[in-house]
Amino acid sequence: MKKLKPWQIALLIIFYPVGIVYLIIYFVKKHGNTKITTFSGEHAALNNKTDRINLQNSEILGTDLVEASYSLACCPECAKLRGRVFSTSGKDKRFPIKPKQVDCSCSGITFSPFVFGVSEPIVNDYLNRKVDIIKFSNRPFIDDRTPKEKKDFEEYSKYLEDQKQKELDRIEYENLCSLLPNDAPKSFGAYRKMKKSKTSGFIKIQKLAKKYNLQIE
Ligand SMILES: [Zn+2]
Repeated sequence: MKKLKPWQIALLIIFYPVGIVYLIIYFVKKHGNTKITTFSGEHAALNNKTDRINLQNSEILGTDLVEASYSLACCPECAKLRGRVFSTSGKDKRFPIKPKQVDCSCSGITFSPFVFGVSEPIVNDYLNRKVDIIKFSNRPFIDDRTPKEKKDFEEYSKYLEDQKQKELDRIEYENLCSLLPNDAPKSFGAYRKMKKSKTSGFIKIQKLAKKYNLQIE
């Protein structure tokens, strides 16, 4: 969004009834976008965009059907949907209706166009057999992950949490460097190491930072 020039603002004030409407649209466009900062938020935003593109492709291909992606390390919600073919409009009664949204705690599911009789179901590759896709798509909506898949998901979730903690630690370290340049460790790696082991050096920095209102957990 371009910044408004002073003469543009002057014109908007002179023709103010139109100007006010324009200014409202301008500010909503400029500030209305929600900034997504979390890891899972970024995944959700990316999946939404991918879905939009895929739905457009479905229209081009002239199919009402979409196929859910398949993951071997997904959350319980995605497990209920993975690999199924859905009807986007609900007109094709052979398949369930595509859910409007998926509330999940993993990298999520994406939907790709599916042409019945032409597209090879993606699940065939994962299960190493030819599935009856109508039957498979209408299987009970339950968490059907194997114990290994559940374990893989737990490990993946832990990895995501570690990444999140690393991001927080980096912010903390950068704040420390600007606040206490002489006391902060020389590298981020060294800072993480001392924080993890809660060394006496770390506790000293923690106390020092508190004096400057910088809370270190
Ligand atoms: Zn999920």
